[in-house]
Order: sequence, then C-alpha cells, then structure tokens
Amino acid sequence: MRDSHTDATSLQQDTAHASKVTLVGALFDALLGVVKIITGLLGHSAALIADGVHSLSDLATDVVVLISIRLGGRAPDQNHPFGHRRIETLGTVILGLMLLAIALGLIWQNALFLWQGQDSTVPTWPVLLVAGLSFSIKEGLYWYTIKAAHALHSELLNANAWHSRSDAFSSIVVLLGAGGAMLGVWWLDAVAAVLVAVLIGMISLQLLAGSLAELIDTAIPEQQQQSYRQLIVQTDGIHAINSLRSRTSGGKVLLELKLEVAPRLTASEAHLLGTQVKQQLQQQFPEIGDILVHINSSASEVSSSLQALNIRPALTRAIDQLLHSYQLNSNDVELNLYYQSPIQVDILLNAKAQQALHDVPQQQLEQQLQLLWPIAKTLNIRFYLLKTS
Ligand SMILES: [Zn+2]
Repeated sequence: MRDSHTDATSLQQDTAHASKVTLVGALFDALLGVVKIITGLLGHSAALIADGVHSLSDLATDVVVLISIRLGGRAPDQNHPFGHRRIETLGTVILGLMLLAIALGLIWQNALFLWQGQDSTVPTWPVLLVAGLSFSIKEGLYWYTIKAAHALHSELLNANAWHSRSDAFSSIVVLLGAGGAMLGVWWLDAVAAVLVAVLIGMISLQLLAGSLAELIDTAIPEQQQQSYRQLIVQTDGIHAINSLRSRTSGGKVLLELKLEVAPRLTASEAHLLGTQVKQQLQQQFPEIGDILVHINSSASEVSSSLQALNIRPALTRAIDQLLHSYQLNSNDVELNLYYQSPIQVDILLNAKAQQALHDVPQQQLEQQLQLLWPIAKTLNIRFYLLKTS
C-alpha cells in the first residue's frame, strides 16, 4: 500500500503531466485556428474557415477548462460553502451556447451560398496545404495524447485524444471539399463547410447536455450508484442503505447517504462507521467529491408522540428523587436511552450506588419510580451494576 504522501505527490505529478498535454493541444489549436481562417479567407475556402473556427472553439474549450481548474479549485469560503466547482459548469454552458450560435451561423451562411448557386472563386492550393498540415498535426496530437492517457490511466486525456482524431477527420473533410471544388465540383467546398459546422454543433450540444444535466441536479447513472451501494453494504456494521441521493458539481459526484446501524450502537461508533464508509468510497471512486452521511438506527421505529415527550429531563428528575431516598444523587448513575418500542432505559450504577441498592429488589425500585413518574410504566427500565467510577 502506498502511503498518503506518495499518493499526493504522484497525483500532483499526474495533474502537471495532464495539464502539460492539454496545454500543448491548446497551443496547436490557437496556431491552426488563426492560420486556417486567414488561409481560408485569402484562398476562398468556406470549409477551411469553418475548420479554423472549429480549432478556435477547441481552444476556447481548453481555456474554459484551465480557468475553471483555477477558479473552481478554490477552497470553499463563507459565501460559497459548497465550493466553486459550478463555475466550470456555468462556463461550459456559456461556451456551449456560443458554439451552437457559431455552428448555426456557419450552416446558414453556407446553405445560402449553395442555394444561390455557383460562385466564381475557387479555392487555391494553400488551402490544401494548410488542411493537410492540420490533418498531420491533429493525427500526431492523437498519438501523443493517447500515449499519455495510457500512462496516466486518464479518462479525460483519452477523450482529448479521440477529440484530436475527430479534428483530423474534420481536416480530411476540408481536403476533400476544397480539392473537389478545385477539380470543378464547385459546391463541394460549401458542403464540407456545412459538415464541419454540424460537427461543431454536435460538440456544443454535448457540452450543453452535460452541464444542463448537472444544473438541474440529475442523478448519476443507476449502474454507477449500484457499484457505490455494493461497496457500502460490504462495510461491517452497516445494516442497510435507507437512501442514496446523488448529483454532480463541476464534474464531481456529490452523495447524500442514509445508513442504518444497530440500535444500541453509540453515537461515536456510528460516526466512525460513517467516516469509514466515506473514506472507502472516496478511495475507490476518485470521481466522488463530498459525501454527507446520516445515520439511522434500525430500531428508530418509535412513534413520534413518544419522542415528543422528550423523556430524558423528566426521567432524570424522577430518578433523582428516587435516589435521594437512598442517600444517593444523579452523579451516582448514568442514563442510556434507546428509542426502541418500548423505549429502553439502562441505568448504570457506580460502586456507591451498587452498595446502597444492593439489597433492594429491582421490582421495588421500578414501582417507586412509577409512583414518582407514572410514564415510567411505558418504559423498559433496567438497573445495571456496571458503572465503576
Ligand atoms: Zn475539435
């Protein structure tokens, strides 16, 4: 088992490595975006312009991710006690809407061009050169990123790698469209531009779907919840899961658990069990952020009217009076209440009380208590000669 220090250090190195790979991709997107749009404008290729817009939108996505890692990673403060992760979600929604508008604009523009008929300007050869260059760089980035993804076992980098490959595909569409237009099929370049714009639109819808699901507190998939449940019930002492509520914030899963434990478990032991479940879940499933654990007692079925009596103060007064008649006081006993049905009361006696009550039958003590406080009849009261201090 690795100790936590090594874990933290390697996690930092992994994050640094992942950031570096993302940054390299972003730099190429900036360069390609500008070169493609300029070449597309000068070389009369709508497809290459659309592909350039695509590259810049990829750059914007990376920038949102990098900014949100900075802003969203800040510790919770007084005004934002649940952290700042939803900044990332908001950023993604804005980006998604922007991309959707761009995609629709490109589709409209090129559809209009196709509708209006042939234009005299045909793409020039630098368009093919830039599209070819873009394809090579994006395919190269795919291999560079997929290698890092395998080394770091990173889902995120894996997704990034496949994105690069789809970008490479987009540049092939431009090559075919512009090449076809140069060979005389005038409409091919505009059709390629529409295809690339549709690709941008699909990316934007994907971004929007994920972020909007998060903003309306959508639960995580059932299968994922099942694997959490399996781990929880394996913990000794957890009798049942009464409820498991999930949602996400900035890509992190937030959980609310209601766990059932044995009725006579002490509060501190139940708390420890809850902490144990929390730690195990977070170790096994790194996507989990905060977990709120609520402990239920498996015998908490007692009716609310009985609970409303709030019996401890009245019981304490009655027992105090009882003890006085034996020259004892409340410091000589300890009361443990269990809200079962009927309510269970354990009275633990210290050495002095044990001596004083030694010859008194338990039945007599119960009757005296019932005289002092009639409700005692409804309780299950036991005197234990256990308290040693
Ligand atoms: Zn892309």
